[in-house]
Amino acid sequence: MNKILISSCFLGNKVRYDGQTKVLVDPQITTWQQQGCLVVICPEMSGGLPVPRARAEQVGSKVIDEFAVDVTEQFQRGASYALELCQKQQIKFALLKEYSPSCGSSQIYNGHFNGTKVDGQGVTAKLLSEHGIAVYSELTLEQLIRDYTEQ
Ligand code: SF4
Repeated sequence: MNKILISSCFLGNKVRYDGQTKVLVDPQITTWQQQGCLVVICPEMSGGLPVPRARAEQVGSKVIDEFAVDVTEQFQRGASYALELCQKQQIKFALLKEYSPSCGSSQIYNGHFNGTKVDGQGVTAKLLSEHGIAVYSELTLEQLIRDYTEQ
């Protein structure tokens, strides 16, 4: 059975920078979970960052936290780990949290910590997309359900 990589915070794990979660409630997710289809990852934790951690945003090609610390390396490490997981398990679909500097698949924050979103991808979403993995978010879950069912 083909698996789906999923952001850990969608499943109720308190892995976000603020120690909170972002549960994504949908019966299909429960079904996939029960069927053992989901491979769970928090790229920022896999990259070595703690919970809680400072908010971070992409600034050009770097990721900088709100205290001006460069965390690009940790974000890249987490993205590489996510890609490795997908390649090892031949995962072709990922369901990742929109707007995150790691997981955002179509929009992220603009790098000024002022709450403004811009078109762009998080570090992990971008790396996975570049390697042929289809990345979806909570906003495109219905599309994922269709594509996964039709594969
Ligand atoms: S890096 Fe991704 S999985 Fe981890 S808390 Fe942020 S959005 Fe959720």
